[in-house]
Amino acid sequence: MPVTGLDPYDDQNIFAKILRGEIPNKTVYEDDAALAFHDIAPQAPVHVLVIPKGRYVSAVDFAGRASDREIAGFWRAVGRVAAKLGLEEGGYRILSNHGIHAGQEVPHFHVHVFGGGPLGRMIQPRS
Ligand code: 5GP
Repeated sequence: MPVTGLDPYDDQNIFAKILRGEIPNKTVYEDDAALAFHDIAPQAPVHVLVIPKGRYVSAVDFAGRASDREIAGFWRAVGRVAAKLGLEEGGYRILSNHGIHAGQEVPHFHVHVFGGGPLGRMIQPRS
């Protein structure tokens, strides 16, 4: 089902199950605010997902409801992940999909961290 961006949080989404330990993951980093793990279908030599531990569907939801502590903790974790993966020198890309136009698959706010090699253009040209 496409995620509209207006949907309420679904506790049965894949990342909620990962946070509850019901589905295994290859953890890169974890702290109170965030969990980072390798994407199951990597689209770059390094492809890691960083998710907040709270129940947020999207960036709008996260910005609107999360505490300053959660928001700071999440973005600090994103930076720590990029550094821990050794991506600073070669560079990396952070991307987040929201709603139908962006093709969001999992309705738990997350950012993708890509790196490990040239990443091409920012987005595919529209056909
Ligand atoms: P979205 O399109 O929502 O931004 O990205 C969701 C991402 O989650 C996709 O890149 C997909 O490969 C990844 N993903 C989906 N299910 C799983 C899973 O069970 N484990 C992991 N590690 N990644 C998953």
